[in-house]
Amino acid sequence: MRPHQNHAPRLLAIDDSSLIHRLLKSRLKNERIEIHHATDGIEGLHMARKLLPDVVLLDIDIPQIDGFETLRELKADPSTHDIPVIFISGMVDTDTKVRGLELGAIDFIAKPFDIAELKARVRSAVRIRSLIRMLAQRAQIDGLTGLWNRSYFNDRLAQEISEAKRHDKPLALMMCDLDHFKPLNDNYGHPFGDHVLEEFAQLLSEGRDNDVSCRYGGEEFAVIFPHTDANEAAKVADRLRRGLQRCSWHNHTKLVVTASFGVTDLSRVAEPTNDAMIDSADKALYAAKATRNTVCIAERSGPAIRLSA
Ligand code: GH3
Ligand code: MG
Ligand code: MG
Repeated sequence: MRPHQNHAPRLLAIDDSSLIHRLLKSRLKNERIEIHHATDGIEGLHMARKLLPDVVLLDIDIPQIDGFETLRELKADPSTHDIPVIFISGMVDTDTKVRGLELGAIDFIAKPFDIAELKARVRSAVRIRSLIRMLAQRAQIDGLTGLWNRSYFNDRLAQEISEAKRHDKPLALMMCDLDHFKPLNDNYGHPFGDHVLEEFAQLLSEGRDNDVSCRYGGEEFAVIFPHTDANEAAKVADRLRRGLQRCSWHNHTKLVVTASFGVTDLSRVAEPTNDAMIDSADKALYAAKATRNTVCIAERSGPAIRLSA
């Protein structure tokens, strides 16, 4: 699963004047933008966390908590930290502007505002938002395979473990490693090795939308299976194993590439942590390497169960 954005950008206007809300609605109705309203700071924060808008227009003089405090809270919350905030205010003195910008606002518009200028500034804020999102996402994606990278994997596994615990759902993890990959690179060249990694990544990403496929490093991959136990995940692993074995390789028609797989789930680890899950899947993978082209399921104690060889 990949985050992507195809909805119209969302704008959240936090202002106690209903006139401003009506004005925005009528003047921006031809823009590809979804407009939401809040009339005080508390409601604004609540809606910002729920909607995750692409841009916030924030009045300074609003009830409950003022615009400065609202901005401070938006910037302190990791979920809303990257949302560009434009101050709109009748107070146009330098101190007010400086204070807003120093708290993290990206722009300032004086009331009464010119609608053409407002549109241009909103568009520019939305562009900045999508650049931030793209950069953040790029930092989590492996350049060769397009799968999630290890840093994303670590964050996501921790997140899925706590979700699974909270809702008392199973969670499985598969680690796999291509067999005899070094000789494959040596015999057919590094670019061909890269091609094999890309093809295997493609197989991995053809699974269910909820499964999280990652490149763990080199020729090692990991898949997180939410709401799934190890027996189910092992069936997927076995389909992948057979899928890879069946692949035909252009120019190397006799070549058969295989991988080994280790699978575990939360019920098979002593404690629900990333380290324990990875260690358990790794032990099963190590057991699978004894015969290669094999899937092994971790046992809570004792040797891993071998599924196929
Ligand atoms: P085993 O069956 O025990 O897993 O043996 P192996 O040869 O697959 O394992 P080993 O760990 O000895 O070698 C892994 C090789 O993977 C060595 C390294 O050069 C290669 N490798 C790692 N990353 C990449 C990459 O991005 N592209 C290519 N082409 N090769 C890579
Ligand atoms: Mg290997
Ligand atoms: Mg390896």
